[in-house]
Amino acid sequence: MKIDLHIHTTASDGRLTPEEVVRIAAKQGLSVIAITDHDSLAGIEPALLAAESIPSLRVIPGLEINTDTPNDEVHILGYFIDYRNKGLKQTLERLRNSRETRARKIVAKLGELGIDIAWHRVLELSGGGSVGRPHIALAMFERGYIPSFQEAFIKYIGRQGPAYVKRERLSPQEAAKLVVKAGGLPVLAHPANIDAIEELLVELKEAGLVGLEAYYNGYRRKTIDGLVSLAAKHGLITSGGSDFHGLGGDNEAPLGGIDVPFDCAERLIAMAERHSQKVIR
Ligand code: AMP
Ligand code: ZN
Ligand code: FE
Ligand code: FE
Repeated sequence: MKIDLHIHTTASDGRLTPEEVVRIAAKQGLSVIAITDHDSLAGIEPALLAAESIPSLRVIPGLEINTDTPNDEVHILGYFIDYRNKGLKQTLERLRNSRETRARKIVAKLGELGIDIAWHRVLELSGGGSVGRPHIALAMFERGYIPSFQEAFIKYIGRQGPAYVKRERLSPQEAAKLVVKAGGLPVLAHPANIDAIEELLVELKEAGLVGLEAYYNGYRRKTIDGLVSLAAKHGLITSGGSDFHGLGGDNEAPLGGIDVPFDCAERLIAMAERHSQKVIR
């Protein structure tokens, strides 16, 4: 019973369409997947539709909201959100606009550094979805400015890079509350390298956090065990996934490529069911 609860599609910076993701997940024999695009809900309906004819595969509607703390990028996953929720859609649209403004500024800064990539190509690579730094990295790679996709982040557009530009972001707490307001379950994504995580967890729990992503690409046994204990200590469930983007980078895990215990999906689903009963009553 393989599952993968962290997947990107063309709705943000993934390379495969939601339909392609569903087809491959079914082929790999996955039983539960979650579509979790950055600041976008556009991949959810197509994925749900594509999975209608595949009884062995369940698709959880989700998203990933990139937020900032002074020291870290903190990403909040939201599962079982109401993807038709107006407030959520409006806020995400604002965030996507700020992504576009910021990406333009990054392209301009790169230009000043002698790296000449076309804005229209970045937009083309984003395919109308949430524009992200990975699209800029791809455009740089295509033009031969960097030997690998990763190098773009290391040398230019990572947080410490000379072409890095900040953008409007929610705080992690605001993102968790937004997920809760849209009927969803917030989970802290890839938390292994977050500074002062215990303080953050306390604050996030107050904002409605229900879980921690303990099973993730590149996490070793010791890290996973530590995160599982941390989750238990704070009364959180655990989740996990590949963070699949389909970009084919050296460090990327394949779809379904992370060993995530099936009970992560079971607990999440059970929690969502209890949650929706509460809403109905
Ligand atoms: P953005 O959403 O534009 O802030 O870009 C962040 C996304 O870029 C992350 O969600 C990752 O998919 C990717 N990313 C961030 N840092 C790196 C890195 N060092 N190497 C490769 N991809 C990265
Ligand atoms: Zn991404
Ligand atoms: Fe992330
Ligand atoms: Fe992700």
